[in-house]
Amino acid sequence: MDQLGKLDGGVGTLKILVINSGSSSLKYQLFNMEDESVLCGGIVERISLKGSRLIHKVNSKKYVDETPVKDHKVALKMVLDTLLDAEKGVITSMEEINAVGHRVVHGGETFSGSVLIEEDVMKALEDNIELAPLHNPPNITGIVAAKELLPNAPQIGVFDTAFHQTLPEKAYLYAIPMKYYEKYKVRRYGFHGTSHFYVSRRAAKMLGKPVEKLRIITCHIGNGASITAVKNGKSVDTSMGFTPLEGLVMGTRCGDMDPAIVTFLQEKENLSTKEISDILNKKSGVYGLTNGFSSDMRDIEDTALKGDKVSKLALDMYDYRIAKYIGAYAAVMNGVDAIAFTAGVGENSPHTRKDVCSHLEFLGLKIDSEKNGVRGKESIISTEDSKVKVLVVPTNEELVIARDTKKIVESMK
Ligand code: ADP
Repeated sequence: MDQLGKLDGGVGTLKILVINSGSSSLKYQLFNMEDESVLCGGIVERISLKGSRLIHKVNSKKYVDETPVKDHKVALKMVLDTLLDAEKGVITSMEEINAVGHRVVHGGETFSGSVLIEEDVMKALEDNIELAPLHNPPNITGIVAAKELLPNAPQIGVFDTAFHQTLPEKAYLYAIPMKYYEKYKVRRYGFHGTSHFYVSRRAAKMLGKPVEKLRIITCHIGNGASITAVKNGKSVDTSMGFTPLEGLVMGTRCGDMDPAIVTFLQEKENLSTKEISDILNKKSGVYGLTNGFSSDMRDIEDTALKGDKVSKLALDMYDYRIAKYIGAYAAVMNGVDAIAFTAGVGENSPHTRKDVCSHLEFLGLKIDSEKNGVRGKESIISTEDSKVKVLVVPTNEELVIARDTKKIVESMK
């Protein structure tokens, strides 16, 4: 508990570093929790690869440092040195960082909320590696580096899966022999939980109603994409599953398909499990549909709207799958009060929002085409008389992580 001595100066000065440590990148933001402002932020890209660099943003200025970065510890050290730098920095001593909030992708069934990371939690994270072999190891590496470099700051884990731990059994189980759930915990976990949580709460605020009284469908559609049915504030179903591969058509991921395709292709093309997994995770989605043209929805939309048939089909499939899930989740909740769009495409693409909503007029949903022109700003884009409200809500996962970190740190006092 001596870690907390430093907070005695007053929670008003609480500074929280939020870290999102991926396989080859480390994103960060430093929050001043007095007013929840972001003091600075950035990313270390291409860790351990050629061309690694740190991009740091502070006071609307951008700094790039191209010193080679051999691993996550070196990356975090670079970040901390930058935070302390006389010109680019925002703090004068490492002791000013009161706590670190970590994004962790997979909490399995162990974590239904955020936690202080102590030895038992590290062990549970390691046990969950099997469930998220691509995501959890870099998350753990980031935590280990932060514990070493900031030994006095409490480290808090915030899980992508936690918000979905309220799913009922009928939504999270797969219809395969029950023993596989019992033996290996094969079930739907769902991801992007921090975003779905944040967006559902903001949407309720924007509508001036308590989230506990609303049925909201949150559409987190970016490169990775997922949809969640949020009933009375709780996640009751979500499109990503055992891994982030299920559900919507994504940048490079296939989303839903008949699982028999996996064994069929393995046999026909003589593919190993790693090869078929790479195809479905990294070579499919709109990237696969356009024969490798692009996984970026801006490129797909641009070329589709210029008349390219292949891109148009990929875009139509991307939008159609979203509409199909919204229809399903309206049934799951026996109705829907609001649909909220977020993430890269949801926040910025009037075309996709319009296309998706054109399938939903049967719900009494109407969007206002002028209001739908909005990009990256909180906005209600449905007409006054629309039975279902449609909103654009820029997500802010880092803020949720910072708030949870603050809450836990304060409760430790
Ligand atoms: P992730 O976090 O999963 O990498 P993002 O939420 O950052 O994804 O979303 C990235 C996606 O959003 C990209 O496919 C990008 O092209 C798309 N996007 C960003 N701006 C626009 C836009 N104006 N129109 C269409 N798509 C956009």
